[in-house]
Amino acid sequence: MTAATTLPSAAIDPATLVLWRDELVETLQALIRIPSINPPPADAPDGERRAADWIAGALADAGLRPELLELVPGRGSVVARLRGDGTGGEPLLLLSHLDVVPAAAELWSHDPFGGEIADGQVWGRGAVDMKHLVAMELTAVRMLAAEARAAGRDPAADPIPGLTRDVILASTADEEAGGLNGIGWIIAEHPELLRAAAAINESGAVATTVAGRRFYPIGVAEKGYAVYRLTVHGTWGHGSMPREDNAAVRAATAVTRLAVPGAPRPTPVMEAFLRGVAEHLDPEQARLVRALLSADPRPGEAAIDALCDPTRARILRSLLRDTISPTVVHAGIKYNVIPGEATVEIDCRVLPGTTEEDMREIVVGRLGDLAAHIEVELVIHAPAVDAPADGDVYTLLARTVRDHDPEGIPLPFMVPFATDAKHTAVLGIPTYGFSPLRLAPEDEFLDRFHGVDERVGVDALRWGLPVLYDVVRRFCG
Ligand SMILES: [Zn+2]
Repeated sequence: MTAATTLPSAAIDPATLVLWRDELVETLQALIRIPSINPPPADAPDGERRAADWIAGALADAGLRPELLELVPGRGSVVARLRGDGTGGEPLLLLSHLDVVPAAAELWSHDPFGGEIADGQVWGRGAVDMKHLVAMELTAVRMLAAEARAAGRDPAADPIPGLTRDVILASTADEEAGGLNGIGWIIAEHPELLRAAAAINESGAVATTVAGRRFYPIGVAEKGYAVYRLTVHGTWGHGSMPREDNAAVRAATAVTRLAVPGAPRPTPVMEAFLRGVAEHLDPEQARLVRALLSADPRPGEAAIDALCDPTRARILRSLLRDTISPTVVHAGIKYNVIPGEATVEIDCRVLPGTTEEDMREIVVGRLGDLAAHIEVELVIHAPAVDAPADGDVYTLLARTVRDHDPEGIPLPFMVPFATDAKHTAVLGIPTYGFSPLRLAPEDEFLDRFHGVDERVGVDALRWGLPVLYDVVRRFCG
């Protein structure tokens, strides 16, 4: 195969593409069958290492020389590099995580670690988060290595035909617990392995159908977080004589005040997303979507109720404001002792532009008169991250989606949770949520993250492979 700067997927030999798509589905099944659970269970503590080994084996079979990295035994990560001729600039990083959250098998209709195919879906923990993209990135890399071999080159040492930049594949451990045993450590100790002009990561370019139109929200931003521990002071006393300075009562009041949703603040990315959605809807629906951008929260709330099912409503509300979820509450030592102290932990998620200091101010403001009795201590904080939604990389991603689904509408989007993009931000790598899946209208995605019966459509997956391949070819061509 020759240089391919403008090579559309149609130029991949169709018969070859069929085989690679089969390979992709089998790769996802094989990865699901390796329970790479985080936190690692006592009876199988090396799941991530086994997943990393499996990938390293596939890469070695493709003629590459993968590197295994392991900070803690059993918590393996794997990195491999395909060479370009160096004329195109810094590499492209294909990033993914190998770990999955636990699954309670008795609740599932298929074995969560069976990788079964049924009803046109691949079932199992990780199908959505995020082994489908691990498999897709790995398959794209294997395709490129195969092209090098077909051209008589050594994929481990020679430039891949047509590539002007290096392509780095990195599948890492521990994302589900913050990534410090995976990408966080690799970036601290071996940044040269991952330094890149841009990264492709999870959570984006997954089709979602609204009013019969298929949108592809491309991840350009994610919220940050700030976790606080609140120590609530009161006065110890006898349960027979109620006190209004009972720390448990104060904690309960504080929790109630903190849980009230704050005012919406649409960020530029959300504004671009909502305006983009509105453009493709009928006038009445468009009016409702635009109401979400109003400074007055009431029309926005009415619009969410009119437009969204409960899942989408929850996601949208969380993307339009800084949020506070009280998650841990402790008070009391015995039924007849009024507690003089209580603790509350809160999980705050901040929009781009909201600093930790801003968030603390919001929390203290919500507490009102109770703030005099409550210490607010920061447990952990990570700022929001975002990547340009108008530059070359975003434009290339959007164009490639449209080339493969002419009716599809790509738009910039933010996710409410954190991913390993927090770590690539340390190296200044613009990181995009882009795991292309053409889901059927009835298929849920965000709801299946960490959910029961996690699964991904086989056709959606097969559609995504040439999209990702073309992104690599175009960015590195
Ligand atoms: Zn994930």
